[in-house]
Amino acid sequence: MSVHKAVRTPADVSVSGWYAVLPPPPKAQVLRGRYVADWVIVGAGFAGLAAARRLSQLVPNDRIAVVDAQRIGWGAAGRNSGFMIDLPHELGGENYGSSKAHDLKQISMNRAAIGFSASAADEFGLQSYFVRAGKFHGAATQHGLRSLREFETHLGGLAENFRSLDASDMKRITGTDFFIGGTFTPGTVMAQPAAFIRGIAGGLAGRVKIFENSPATLIETGAVHRVQTPEGEIIAPRLILTVNGHLESFGFFRKRLLHVFTYASMTRSLSDSEQAALGGQEHWGLIPADPMGSTIRRIGDRIVVRNTFTYNPGMSTSKKQINQIARAHDRSFRARFPMLGDMPMEFRWGGHLCLSINSAPAFGEVDDRVYVAGCCNGLGTVKGTLYGMLIADLAVGTDEPMVSDALSEPPPSPLYPAPLMAIGAPLRLWAMQRRAGREF
Ligand SMILES: Cc1cc2nc3c(=O)[nH]c(=O)nc-3n(C[C@H](O)[C@H](O)[C@H](O)COP(=O)(O)OP(=O)(O)OC[C@H]3O[C@@H](n4cnc5c(N)ncnc54)[C@H](O)[C@@H]3O)c2cc1C
Repeated sequence: MSVHKAVRTPADVSVSGWYAVLPPPPKAQVLRGRYVADWVIVGAGFAGLAAARRLSQLVPNDRIAVVDAQRIGWGAAGRNSGFMIDLPHELGGENYGSSKAHDLKQISMNRAAIGFSASAADEFGLQSYFVRAGKFHGAATQHGLRSLREFETHLGGLAENFRSLDASDMKRITGTDFFIGGTFTPGTVMAQPAAFIRGIAGGLAGRVKIFENSPATLIETGAVHRVQTPEGEIIAPRLILTVNGHLESFGFFRKRLLHVFTYASMTRSLSDSEQAALGGQEHWGLIPADPMGSTIRRIGDRIVVRNTFTYNPGMSTSKKQINQIARAHDRSFRARFPMLGDMPMEFRWGGHLCLSINSAPAFGEVDDRVYVAGCCNGLGTVKGTLYGMLIADLAVGTDEPMVSDALSEPPPSPLYPAPLMAIGAPLRLWAMQRRAGREF
């Protein structure tokens, strides 16, 4: 038997705009007393709920229990910008693509995950939160524009569809003349992340038992595993951990996971006259030409801006840090939308990304009947879904071929020693963000 005590559990501060604009959720079902199941899943983000849904399809008569430390959608799953991207897109990468064979494989796996999510959206009536709108890339500098044109060449080599856009196209779409060019790719789904993830959990409720506000504080693995929470425990012979960076809180993948936070602000509702002054289309999502730039989404009468990465090895941010970063959001917003003046932001938040130096996921069986799917390198709406569904296939033992593809990926590489990381990681992020210049 091995014992894994959680050295910390998540406690995300500040509500995300995506969560705040939804009606309040029903009362949380907290785990109290003992619950016996065939499967226990810890973590109900994209990976955990994909694993739960896939299990419910593969072994429909088994009892499946899921616990999350927080409300569904309160964590990163409901804090992200909602781009479910089909194409290769490495957050930390110097460019947008790698070898052709690798990219083709990634695209087909990403599309399988998007297809799995699409079938959930259909099954649970979530189509309005999951829209196949495609994404825009916007360049604000000549350097950014060159990167986008290289990206387009790469897409051409992969026989992927795209549309090359000039400054006037970008203004027509976004209302601003900030962007000197862009690229549109059609395969990205734009989600309302908190609504979508909450909708998945609601849809699964009839066949999966979901406990919220129930942090797993201790895990004992053995012939049957035991997951302990402050007021209860779940006993099950099979355990799936889908806690993203918190894998390390239980002692898994120690010194291999990079804990980075990124931040977003959402405006208040724009009035009709403000929307008329802005112009452009009512709904669009734009990714910056530089990976360290600002992501912008317009969702009807609101705009969301996301930028800034910070290295937080303690796996938490604070209201103070969120407020400091607010200034960067406001600057980026004003630069793009001068016609909106000093638009107040109604919601500001940050969320946890788990990255690895070699962009590899944490995936596989780490102990007898203990499975993990995490560290989705900031692209977890799709990768979390992908590895979540594949971990269920691995655990059940199906002949799904993508399982061997996932298993053939290397594990997350070791980080540099802690003192080097403490100095080097923030410095590197700062330098990369500075280099992004006007794209930031
Ligand atoms: C501002 C922002 C913008 C982003 N934009 C995008 C984007 O546009 N597209 C994209 O693909 N990704 C984006 N991301 C990243 C994306 O949100 C994550 O990659 C994704 O949520 C990871 O999914 P996951 O299921 O692996 O982990 P998570 O969503 O982090 O879910 C893990 C769950 O485990 C729970 N948990 C942890 N420890 C415990 C414990 N001890 N007991 C019980 N439960 C526990 C947590 O509460 C959490 O709900 C963004 C993130 C942020 C913060």
